[in-house]
Amino acid sequence: MIRYCIGCGDQIPPKRIEIIPSTKTCTGCSTTGAKIGVTIMHGNLEKDDTWVETEFINPDDYVPYPPSYNIENNEE
Ligand SMILES: [Zn+2]
Repeated sequence: MIRYCIGCGDQIPPKRIEIIPSTKTCTGCSTTGAKIGVTIMHGNLEKDDTWVETEFINPDDYVPYPPSYNIENNEE
């Protein structure tokens, strides 16, 4: 099956169509299903006991912190 990207007009790789039969874009133009990598810091900053993890989430779930976000206000 040959299909062309609605974004750039290039042929969509057959492997991509195989994996995502409903796709209308090539890998470069795709936004659907793309994941955003978010770096999250855990631990206690005051005790210098922290670690960082990168989580991959759906763009729809991504809520950026406001620029003024203060980690000390993040009480859970
Ligand atoms: Zn494209």
